[in-house]
Amino acid sequence: MEYFLTEEQQMIKELAAKIADEKIAPVAIQYDEEGKFPHDIVKILADSDLCGVYIPEEYGGLGGGVLEMALVVEELSRGCAGIALAFAGTGLGAFPIILFGNEEQKKKYLPDIAAGKKLAAFGLTEANAGSDAAGIQTTAVLEGDEYVLNGTKQWITNGGEADVYTIIACTDRNKGARGFSAFIVEKGTPGFSFGKKENKMGIRASCTRELIFENCRIPKENLLAREGMGFIVAMKTLDRTRPGVAAQALGIAQGAFDAALKYSRERVQFGQPISSFQAIQHMLADMAIQIEAARSLVYQTCRHIDSGAKNISKESAMAKVFASDVAMRVTTDAVQILGGYGYMKEYPVEKMMRDAKITQIYEGTNQIQRNIIALELIKEASGKK
Ligand SMILES: Cc1cc2nc3c(=O)[nH]c(=O)nc-3n(C[C@H](O)[C@H](O)[C@H](O)COP(=O)(O)OP(=O)(O)OC[C@H]3O[C@@H](n4cnc5c(N)ncnc54)[C@H](O)[C@@H]3O)c2cc1C
Repeated sequence: MEYFLTEEQQMIKELAAKIADEKIAPVAIQYDEEGKFPHDIVKILADSDLCGVYIPEEYGGLGGGVLEMALVVEELSRGCAGIALAFAGTGLGAFPIILFGNEEQKKKYLPDIAAGKKLAAFGLTEANAGSDAAGIQTTAVLEGDEYVLNGTKQWITNGGEADVYTIIACTDRNKGARGFSAFIVEKGTPGFSFGKKENKMGIRASCTRELIFENCRIPKENLLAREGMGFIVAMKTLDRTRPGVAAQALGIAQGAFDAALKYSRERVQFGQPISSFQAIQHMLADMAIQIEAARSLVYQTCRHIDSGAKNISKESAMAKVFASDVAMRVTTDAVQILGGYGYMKEYPVEKMMRDAKITQIYEGTNQIQRNIIALELIKEASGKK
């Protein structure tokens, strides 16, 4: 399928694909088993100038947008979705600064992120505030020239590995979500520590940790936008990064499909390759249809966002739901095509099936995405927009 990428987008995609094939896929199973954070791959991405594809040129990036970010995530995820998350999770941490940072904040943080010298992370979720993000309890109190943070963020991607964290905390408890604010917190700030590394089903090369704030003092200049804008910062960020989760799902699905197609042509049963059986052929055809449909929706959604469109929440949620559901179905079918071998760790598809599951859960579960989509549809229909 021709996806009408620009020459630069095609180059970015091909470069990421080369890194996925040559550097990531060969180590994916080992990193998964050991739960090893991919510092070496981040270095390769940095040397290849890929870390800043979505960061404006004036801050050291390549000046692309959500589509460029998605192209890299898709290709890296074809090799290993956990390794790809070091890059994608940094995008999640960097987008609040790109969207809401002032000139000083952008100059201070974005060039190092673009150069791959620093990773970023985004802390919204807490133990009692997952889908109901408005229930966060972490507080930030202004004392003189400093905000004092107290509370614990749970399951933060790149936790402990990132240098730059965007954190959503409560500055006014009486105002609900309108009392939230967003802050930049640097690793190494006294009072900021990390919990243990979580032991996960999939994306095991990614590091997921608690962020613990105990009287953590940060300069008041680290406030993003204005007090009270934290929930908006979070929601507008997620609108732009959910297509990245969709791209991750797409890459996983493509990787699983490629492995299943290859295997079906090599595996002989009843004297013929299993690819000659119509039951297998139809499974392959359905997998390919779903992947093409997901890619079309993901790329078009990214273009819609990059065009500067105002209403993007519904589209972004649709891409995430569709692609992640496709990834779950395609990886499950890939395991089926490989039969018993598909269940074994020597083959890549069991890992891909485990990796696919998270794309239906994080950055808002697919149930929450369907809520967003339905509410937008009803709002549109009642002409309130
Ligand atoms: C590996 C991993 C990495 C993560 N990385 C980050 C990160 O970097 N930063 C960050 O801030 N967070 C992160 N998260 C948190 C993630 O975004 C949340 O787990 C997710 O939003 C769901 O919240 P929850 O797990 O508390 O589920 P819950 O909110 O407890 O939901 C449980 C179930 O109830 C359903 N449900 C809840 N409310 C509704 C409703 N109103 N309607 C219908 N169904 C509903 C959900 O869909 C789900 O099926 C990460 C999580 C994981 C597992």
